[in-house]
Amino acid sequence: MSRQTFTMIKPDAMKNGHAGAIIDRFIQEGFRIVAMKMTKLSADKAGEFYAIHKERGFYGELVEFMSSGPIIAAILEKENAVSAFRDLIGATNPAQAAEGSIRKLYATSVGENAVHGSDSNENAKIECDFFFSSLERF
Ligand code: ADP
Ligand code: MG
Repeated sequence: MSRQTFTMIKPDAMKNGHAGAIIDRFIQEGFRIVAMKMTKLSADKAGEFYAIHKERGFYGELVEFMSSGPIIAAILEKENAVSAFRDLIGATNPAQAAEGSIRKLYATSVGENAVHGSDSNENAKIECDFFFSSLERF
């Protein structure tokens, strides 16, 4: 599993027309697409996915945003996928994200920051299993 990570293209990037460019970037950077789907989270499902942040002040805003429109969920594969992908997306706050990172290029704010990326191998497995059955992985 250390070769796989989980990502979502968030509702802001979908709405702003960046999904194609972002998926192209995944491929250009050497990530293989293991699974991918367009879907929409209910508020309940978004709350469950982000349950780890339940006590944070931004939790309500985050759940509302993540259930506000369609997303693209995907499993990506590469050597050291979790850390390689976190490097590619950049810091949570686009103002602090590295030049050329996906969040620097496409995020609008710390909350509406274009993409999700798993933060550990353990969470990558949990998040991949949240969205994808074994029949949906290639
Ligand atoms: P990351 O997505 O970089 O792992 P976190 O796990 O800390 O960041 O937070 C999860 C998500 O919650 C962020 O990607 C962002 O959408 C939202 N978020 C984080 N911090 C804030 C904040 N201070 N204000 C509003 N939304 C936030
Ligand atoms: Mg996180």
